[in-house]
Amino acid sequence: MKRIKHAKAADQYIHKSAHPKAQHVAAIHLRNKRDRAVTVIDEWEELRETASKIKLHTLSNLHGYLEEFEANAKANGVIIHWAQTGDDLNKIVYELLDERNVPYLVKSKSMLTEECHMNQYLEERGIDVYDTDLGERIVQLAKEPPSHIVVPAMHKTKEEISDLFHKTMNTEKDNVDAKYLTLAARKDLRTKFMNAEAALTGVNFGVAETGTVTIVTNEGNADLGVNKAKLQIHCMGIEKLIPKLNDLSVFLRLLGRSATGQPITTYSSHYHKPKPEGEMHIVIVDNGRSDHLGMEDFWTALKCIRCGACMNTCPVYRSGGGHSYGYTVPGPIGSIITPARDITQYDDLPFASSLCGSCSDVCPVKIDIHGQLLKWREVIVESGQVAKSKSLPMKIGSTVLSKGQWYRLSGWGARKFLNYFPKLANAMVPKWTKGRELPNPPKESFREWYIKNKKNG
Ligand code: SF4
Repeated sequence: MKRIKHAKAADQYIHKSAHPKAQHVAAIHLRNKRDRAVTVIDEWEELRETASKIKLHTLSNLHGYLEEFEANAKANGVIIHWAQTGDDLNKIVYELLDERNVPYLVKSKSMLTEECHMNQYLEERGIDVYDTDLGERIVQLAKEPPSHIVVPAMHKTKEEISDLFHKTMNTEKDNVDAKYLTLAARKDLRTKFMNAEAALTGVNFGVAETGTVTIVTNEGNADLGVNKAKLQIHCMGIEKLIPKLNDLSVFLRLLGRSATGQPITTYSSHYHKPKPEGEMHIVIVDNGRSDHLGMEDFWTALKCIRCGACMNTCPVYRSGGGHSYGYTVPGPIGSIITPARDITQYDDLPFASSLCGSCSDVCPVKIDIHGQLLKWREVIVESGQVAKSKSLPMKIGSTVLSKGQWYRLSGWGARKFLNYFPKLANAMVPKWTKGRELPNPPKESFREWYIKNKKNG
């Protein structure tokens, strides 16, 4: 399906749906909670710096840490698989399930499997998938992609969820009580958990030193699935590695606070080896990450620990919604990782930013997000992918701004034009004047005013 460009998708979202207010309020609420949670930590900046250094070091020595992780995991009795692409990942998981005649899979939140469209792949081959994170379950039932990486159903109102549950789970019509709806989902999923033969999770951190994986959830759904099912599968992007178990203390403190303002996520589960009579598989996935790692100006984006803080603080994300980006990871971080995957398809996303820099300020691993957004713009413009309607005015602007007399002449002309033909001037820039009018022009330029007042003064 052809992706709709961000500006158009955001416009549709803002004008045609009931979601924007709910999404905006929820994101601001998370941003405020994050601010309160980090200001009580005196060493917050030190933690960010340490996390950034650990990630930079790991990514710079990734091949060694991957081998160390594999060797230690194998020594623990874990079976390791390597997937170069999303299709490889889906195929590996499908074969594991198919060989054991597993009828369905319980899955805890994994943006990697979303990225690789695993649900669709398995369902097309006759294996049902139940997303067990509440937000993921809501968007799965609604047949929609997640709109946020931590709060997948952020865009949904209680009324919409009530309606959805009424249709899919026969809950009481128009009952919008959050506790009632949560308990209904819990009851529905409980039977799936109790009879599951296979459980799959994403991975927040893979520890090279121990060959173990750490998964954080607030609902305990990863633990319930993995501890009950005989077959456990964990899917991990190559960038999720950290060298030592001790490093986890840095990241777990940063992640919960940045994501939801909690001192720590409710459940931090560490999986070392298979259960007695069980099987534990870890699929290590590349899917474009190695190529991204080789990009001199952009590789540090792989430090991301997927906390979602840059989304909650971004005015463009909050207004336009997560779906408008057309990719699993939306918001500022999505806008710098998507062009690294496919610059032709996602060439609009680096422009979906005000470049205010708030994303970089809140990022717990100190990714220079707005700097990379700007750099991507440069790359895209230089590759000639920008529409003439955008590049031509920029060229004209650049010429005018670089020559004093041209600048003065154009300023004089613009003031006159705005004075004599204000309606026409507003009509000439309809997108700018949709929500506001062009300002009344001053009688003279600052330069003229300055010369006059300098003489007078
Ligand atoms: S880029 Fe930084 S703020 Fe954004 S999701 Fe990743 S870690 Fe969080």
